[in-house]
Amino acid sequence: QVKENGRNHFRFFSPEMNQRASHILEMESALRNALHNNEFQLYYQPQIDLYSGELIGAEALIRWQHPEMGQIQPSQFIPFAEESGIIIPIGEWVLNEACIQAKKWQTQLSIPVAVNLSALQFRQENIVEIITKALKNANLEGRWLELELTESVVVQNLDAAIIYLKQLKQLGISLAMDDFGTGYSSLGYLKQFPFNTLKIDRSFIQNVTTEPNDALIAIAIISMAHSLRLNVVAEGVETESQLNFLHRQNCDLIQGYYYSKPLPADEFDAFIANVKKQPFKNKIREQNSR
Ligand code: C2E
Ligand code: MG
Ligand code: MG
Ligand code: MG
Repeated sequence: QVKENGRNHFRFFSPEMNQRASHILEMESALRNALHNNEFQLYYQPQIDLYSGELIGAEALIRWQHPEMGQIQPSQFIPFAEESGIIIPIGEWVLNEACIQAKKWQTQLSIPVAVNLSALQFRQENIVEIITKALKNANLEGRWLELELTESVVVQNLDAAIIYLKQLKQLGISLAMDDFGTGYSSLGYLKQFPFNTLKIDRSFIQNVTTEPNDALIAIAIISMAHSLRLNVVAEGVETESQLNFLHRQNCDLIQGYYYSKPLPADEFDAFIANVKKQPFKNKIREQNSR
């Protein structure tokens, strides 16, 4: 036991740990610079009604356009941003930017924009104020904003979470549980929180047509969500057979490369204008009449 502790203690000062600590510091200053130099950009991925083919919403996903390294994906920097705390100003930038974009789309497309909230962001006592400010700044009504939280974000902060979520709900904001199936996945939590939407994690969708267990899990999640009156979004739909499966199982919305990758706002507009001429609806109908 003592040895174990001793080892853990020693490991804390090991060269790897020092390297890691200094890497976090380096990343933090790089991220701070990036924020200052406006190197972040939001991409938007469409969410589509599986039956009408209609565009229902868009999820905002951050990208870092590094002047030398090119585009950096969130998986490469969000964990460091969380660990160093710089996710807080980055998250505020995301909220403001997404609300401004949602305001632009409100008249043209009438879709809400979904924003991912990190655990650290959600642990701030003034998180509701920060979100209210972003809405005010964009002159946006709450109903055009959706917030995506993972189960662990909510569970880590259980008592406060319920209060914050109810306050956000009062503002007209809709709430989505992200990456469902990868965390606690407790029915009790789902019932307790005022979520509108449940997003089935991509890892289940990926093998939904090849792994019977994943298919069963997806079916169970959809039916459970529907009995709790939640809308269900399938994340990471890439193939026609996944689409057909989800259609048969009465899933509500899809989001994935099959329809579109995340796009910068201007490309999103062009893409949507283009599909309006060639409705996706017909594509879904064709597939399901086969
Ligand atoms: P997420 O919120 O679950 O977002 C969905 C991820 O799945 C996105 O990855 C999206 O590009 C990807 N995806 C969508 N459809 C497909 C598909 O058909 N196939 C595959 N292979 N992938 C697909 P992305 O943009 O790399 O973001 C990864 C994660 O980073 C997000 O997962 C979210 O947890 C986090 N993230 C992204 N933007 C933000 C942000 O602004 N704030 C915070 N706190 N986290 C963010
Ligand atoms: Mg998300
Ligand atoms: Mg997700
Ligand atoms: Mg994810």
